[in-house]
Amino acid sequence: MYHRYHYVASKLAVKNEAENLISIRSLNRYIPGCERTEAVLRASEAKFRALIQNSSDIIGILEADGTIRYESPSVERILGYKPEELLGKNAFEFIHPEDIAKISESFKYLVQNLGATVRVESRFRHKNGSWCFLESTGSNLLAEPFIRGIVINSRDISDRKFAEEKLIYDALHDVLTGLPNRALFTDRLRRASEYAKRHSNYLFAVLFLDLDRFKFINDSLGHTYGDQLLLAIAQRLKECLRPTDLAARLGGDEFTVLLEGIKDVSDTVRVAERIQQELAFPIAIGEQEIITTVSIGIALSTTGYKQPEDLLRNADIAMYRAKARGKARYEIFDTNMHAQIVERLQLERDLRRAIERRELRVYYQPIVYLNTGNLAALEALVRWQHPQEGLIFPEKFMPIAQEIGLSMSIDEWVLQEACRQLQMWQKKCKLKAKTPTLTINVNLCGCWFKQQKLQRYIHQILQETELQPHSLKLEITEDIIMENDSEVSFMLNQLRDLGIKLAIDDFGTGYSSLARLHRFPITELKIDRSFVSGSDVEKGNLDIIETIAILAKKLGMEVTAEGIETAQQLQKLRELKCEYGQGYFFSKPLESKAIEALIMADSVWL
Ligand code: C2E
Ligand code: MG
Ligand code: MG
Repeated sequence: MYHRYHYVASKLAVKNEAENLISIRSLNRYIPGCERTEAVLRASEAKFRALIQNSSDIIGILEADGTIRYESPSVERILGYKPEELLGKNAFEFIHPEDIAKISESFKYLVQNLGATVRVESRFRHKNGSWCFLESTGSNLLAEPFIRGIVINSRDISDRKFAEEKLIYDALHDVLTGLPNRALFTDRLRRASEYAKRHSNYLFAVLFLDLDRFKFINDSLGHTYGDQLLLAIAQRLKECLRPTDLAARLGGDEFTVLLEGIKDVSDTVRVAERIQQELAFPIAIGEQEIITTVSIGIALSTTGYKQPEDLLRNADIAMYRAKARGKARYEIFDTNMHAQIVERLQLERDLRRAIERRELRVYYQPIVYLNTGNLAALEALVRWQHPQEGLIFPEKFMPIAQEIGLSMSIDEWVLQEACRQLQMWQKKCKLKAKTPTLTINVNLCGCWFKQQKLQRYIHQILQETELQPHSLKLEITEDIIMENDSEVSFMLNQLRDLGIKLAIDDFGTGYSSLARLHRFPITELKIDRSFVSGSDVEKGNLDIIETIAILAKKLGMEVTAEGIETAQQLQKLRELKCEYGQGYFFSKPLESKAIEALIMADSVWL
């Protein structure tokens, strides 16, 4: 009888309800000869047994060393073991190795403090080998005579944990490729840099990758192909790396790699080369075989940085350098690059304001009729009078203007200014009567031919400045007539119909097919100065110049030789029957005042 009350008491104790324990204890005192009490106890025992057996939680009792003395039946539903399979085993055998330290500490505290309660979360091995997340509350009832054990009440929180883990995973990974995203990458980068601070020999590197033709592929084949390509790239990237390296996708076609514990720069270069080789193999997507290359920027932890994120930025800068130098290559960041980027950004900012601040200037370079030495035309060449940097040449700022979409505005301004100026000179010097063919040459960038407004704009300018259309010659480069001939040809014909003359600038440096030239209403070829300049005109170059001159004549075009610097060059060009010449031998590009003086003086150069 006494044993049975013990048992009931212990079961009740397991419920850890202080009130019940007290009432059982008080009942115990009245047991002998008390039939009514026994009946009450029996009912109570049945009630609590039912509660424990049907509890959704697992209720267990452990010895102070972790040996399992009791498990409630729910252990089978939650962890797959029958209670008797666990009895006598040590609970720690079932705990996830990564959780052991944390749980041992809590358990030790619990064992050492009578009556204490702790709450922990841990992973417990399911009978099928998987891990189940339990939230457990342990109570030290070692001093409790009917229990003398550690009572553990555990709840299955796997669903919540998995949902939490998924949330965390999604927040740190790229949805498309499953690679770590920027947040996870920067976190690892930060950790690497902290480790490097403590270990001076520890080196790491950041690679910044950008696909060279992704936009083209995405636009022409569609987003599904684009996504497939990114997936394939992510896979290949992972295959190129060691398990300790981290590849991430920052977004779009930008990927980054963190190489930790490298020996020197050659390690990084080897990885970059391997990535380039692997990505260069054609990738089969649907029925297409896509070939793509990648530009890589490398930043080494040795280049110095304030924030770990600076390394990412430096690698990005180096990647841009790789793109600028022809793509499909890698560049290693150096501090010069940073200074250049800062300078370039400053220049970009200043350039945006240059027109409204009236900092642009037009210089004019004479073009001379080689037979007589008379002035035949002027080429308008833009300059930028920078308040701090001084006079800046177009070769430095026009490519930037082109990139940031300003080159057409600059051309518009130059056109207006040059037409206005020529009209003024014509009036002032009554040039019309003297040299009726004097023209102004204005350079146009390629962007004009991607829009329809060129003809309208030129027409408007001619009206505003009252310049005769035949006084204006527009210089375009060879690549323009190579790109999209029907449209360009249409636009050029519109200009010809206005009465404008058209010249191909820097002729011979592009890839224009000579056979195509006659399809366009071109009135002049300007032979690039690379064929003319130099200490002596080489034999090969002479042949080219002669061929161009003959070709031009056959097509009814005029020829101008650019870059004449010496009397000897001039002599050769005259022998080759080149009609016009331009170059430092006659004059450098000059400000309008100086040109006006030349015109007034009726300068002749022969
Ligand atoms: P370009 O149209 O071929 O202009 C001729 C360039 O050669 C000019 O350089 C001129 O100063 C230079 N040059 C002329 N004679 C000689 C010579 O004997 N020796 C040497 N070494 N150079 C000579 P600049 O003014 O620096 O212009 C460079 C390029 O910038 C121009 O080449 C043109 O393509 C572009 N550019 C200039 N102004 C404009 C503009 O208003 N709009 C556009 N879109 N481009 C412009
Ligand atoms: Mg030109
Ligand atoms: Mg030129």
